[in-house]
Amino acid sequence: MSQQTQVSRVAQYYRDWIKMFPSFSSVANASAADILRAWSGLGYNSRALRFHRLSKIVAEEYRSRLPERIDELQNLPGIGRYTAHAVACFAFGKNIPVVDVNIKRLLTRWTKKVGTVSEQLNDNSAWILAENFLPKNKAVEWNQSLMDLGALVCTAQKPSCGDCPVSKYCASAFSKAFLMKNKKKISTEPVWRGIPRRLYRGRILKLLHHHTCSAPDVAALLWSGHTARDIVWTASLLKKMADDGLLSSLNGTYSITR
Ligand code: SF4
Repeated sequence: MSQQTQVSRVAQYYRDWIKMFPSFSSVANASAADILRAWSGLGYNSRALRFHRLSKIVAEEYRSRLPERIDELQNLPGIGRYTAHAVACFAFGKNIPVVDVNIKRLLTRWTKKVGTVSEQLNDNSAWILAENFLPKNKAVEWNQSLMDLGALVCTAQKPSCGDCPVSKYCASAFSKAFLMKNKKKISTEPVWRGIPRRLYRGRILKLLHHHTCSAPDVAALLWSGHTARDIVWTASLLKKMADDGLLSSLNGTYSITR
């Protein structure tokens, strides 16, 4: 849930979710439509469907307990290197490094004098460094400390070097690069009628919870006074959602994947 969504937004969803689905088998036994309904409002719905697929595999092949080995974790849907290491470290107490975006930024600045706030080591170098820095039998405390330091002190745009406990050892401490104005990032998120496409995806899932609709039907429900261009755009979005596994299509109509 907290992949690409702030923890403060996730908290209530997580509590409700755990009540509804307290185990992998309860997720595995639910339909995709139930999962999407419970997820509704969190966005990035493909995460929910990946977790649904993961739960089925964990329920069927691992007796409803996540495997502990990194290679097995990484073979599950939606689990990459970072998540596999985080689960193995924080849930199973393995003494292994974890590299998320905050830790990578922190390690970059710590070990080399950066020229800009956005300068980053490549992934491979960051994982090697994290492995070399890891103290023996202290991975949980160490990795959580690095995450917090990166998230709260060595932040992306305004690192607080004056409050930083590692400033004495840091190659970039008080770097002039942090004072330079950064070019504003231009959002590349696709929009239609001034609204981000991902919001339409959420609305469409709600509309289709109990209905099967064609592209013109969906366009009519989204906009009173819709145009032919709206219908063409809606049709391409419905097709994309079907390609992502969120919707099923039959003879030009769409419904939520069951
Ligand atoms: S001293 Fe500054 S740049 Fe270095 S780790 Fe701390 S906050 Fe980041």
